[in-house]
Amino acid sequence: MLVIMKNDATEAQIANVMKEITNAGYRGIPIPGDHRTAVCIVGNQGMVEENPFLALEGVKEVLRVTKPYKLVSRETCPEPTVIRLGDVEIGNGCKPVIIAGPCSVESEEQTLRIARRVKEGGAKLFRGGAFKPRTSPYSFQGLGKAGLKILEKVHSETGLFIVTEATDSENLKLVEDSTDIIQIGARNMQNYSLLRRAGQTKKPVILKRGLSATIEELLMAAEYIMAEGNTQVILCERGIRTFSDNTRFTLDLSAILSVKAVSHLPIIVDPSHAAGRRDYVIPLSRAAIAAGADGLIVEVHSDPAAALSDGAQSLYPEQFNRLAKEVEYLNMLGVEKCLK
Ligand code: PEP
Ligand code: MN
Repeated sequence: MLVIMKNDATEAQIANVMKEITNAGYRGIPIPGDHRTAVCIVGNQGMVEENPFLALEGVKEVLRVTKPYKLVSRETCPEPTVIRLGDVEIGNGCKPVIIAGPCSVESEEQTLRIARRVKEGGAKLFRGGAFKPRTSPYSFQGLGKAGLKILEKVHSETGLFIVTEATDSENLKLVEDSTDIIQIGARNMQNYSLLRRAGQTKKPVILKRGLSATIEELLMAAEYIMAEGNTQVILCERGIRTFSDNTRFTLDLSAILSVKAVSHLPIIVDPSHAAGRRDYVIPLSRAAIAAGADGLIVEVHSDPAAALSDGAQSLYPEQFNRLAKEVEYLNMLGVEKCLK
């Protein structure tokens, strides 16, 4: 349920509503807006009695949120969320953001070389895994802490903002200290303790859709993060498991529209993991931008044949340059705005 405060409600009246919510055994989360504050009631198992809240000073109305997710929903927060990092804005039809870099941080030399190339191509954010969630325990698991140090160096030398994955609650703290955006991978989308821990950090989180998760499950996972107080969540469609086996996963582009219909959170697309092959990455990226994605996260490697993970789907830097130019062009045409 949402308690909507009057435009001129005072801080004391908002605090009183919060206190009454706590006294009733629930939790109140204030959502400040441009004109008025709303207080979202969470923690209730069933229906909440609305009259006691309607009677409080400064309350304009009480609305029921019909969706199982509350904080993620447009019903609670009608304005689109925009995530800001320096001069980069993600969400609400801003220029699509491009996050690029290798699947894994393999060495300082490899990582810096790719970072310089993607920066020249126009990327503002750099991706690279230091902790890798691999299907096989015998595959390269990432450089761990040493990888994070390399990413810090990438940031200090190039100014690129860093995106890297936390794979468990233990490494989340380390990742939080070294990165600008924390990635939660597809295999961890329903790791609820990790989601809660990510919700307690101050860094934006990219939450990737689980391999076989529905949109509602993705949004409920985002709700775990937001319920802990972190409002900076970016969703990511990265392909799902279907019977179709011509690509590694099936890129579900309609997810962009389904998410935007019900949620204020930005959604970006990862064409690399969906396709599993580099020659599909540029066409799928075009389609994602045309469908209204708020950005892309793509894998790039200067020597894909020698990559320790996901070489087959990694773009060569020259291909990345072309992709970035195409995205710029599509954005100039305003394709995604026409589709709104
Ligand atoms: C990755 O980004 O390298 C990765 C492992 O992604 P996903 O969690 O989508 O498989
Ligand atoms: Mn990868």
